[in-house]
Amino acid sequence: MPMKLLLFDIDGTLIHTGGAGIRSLNRAFEKLYGCPDVMAGISLAGRTDDLIVREAFGRAGLDFSDKDLPRFKSIYFQFIAEEIYANGYVKRLMPGIAELIPELDRHPDICLALLTGNWQRSARIKMDYFELNPFFAFGAFSDDSPERSELVPVAIQRFRNRYGSDIRPHDVYVIGDTPADVLCAKPHGVVSVAVAAAAHPFDELAQYEPDILLHDLSDKNSVLELFT
Ligand SMILES: [Mg+2]
Repeated sequence: MPMKLLLFDIDGTLIHTGGAGIRSLNRAFEKLYGCPDVMAGISLAGRTDDLIVREAFGRAGLDFSDKDLPRFKSIYFQFIAEEIYANGYVKRLMPGIAELIPELDRHPDICLALLTGNWQRSARIKMDYFELNPFFAFGAFSDDSPERSELVPVAIQRFRNRYGSDIRPHDVYVIGDTPADVLCAKPHGVVSVAVAAAAHPFDELAQYEPDILLHDLSDKNSVLELFT
């Protein structure tokens, strides 16, 4: 039974999708409501898809109701499955991930899971492109709550259900690239690990006082030491 639970953010932490998510959101608003370029100026950083889409409805001058969400999501999922394969965009694993994740997965004391603002279905579509899904059996997603901080107890409960045992907060790590990743960990006493390899510089993330702050995850051995 694993003693450490590592909760990985997806975008900007494991992978960079070359804007596939934004293009898909824009296409969904255009197709359903005829509103072009709705996502311009909307911050994605560490926010859940539910919150992003609610803001986008407002920006487009559309009333949002929960009834709209299933239809929007099903169109968005179709587009993301296209856009993740679109040519002409740079898509990549973030530094160190290709080596680190299989190594962590092999470690008997470590359980890998997801904590992401993506909806589960689009998360799995993105992860599938990079063949990462087999390493992450479960997770907490925007489907579980629009508030990122509420995803931490959801992920921990899924660990409990899976292994039939509890885990101490200081053995749970929330690993992400934005201030929101750091802030969601704080109320739960779990360990926040900020990685400054994407849009948020090291000095900016430092202001949020993560427990651990790294430039990237490329030094496999020192990252392994943190978790073992
Ligand atoms: Mg992220």
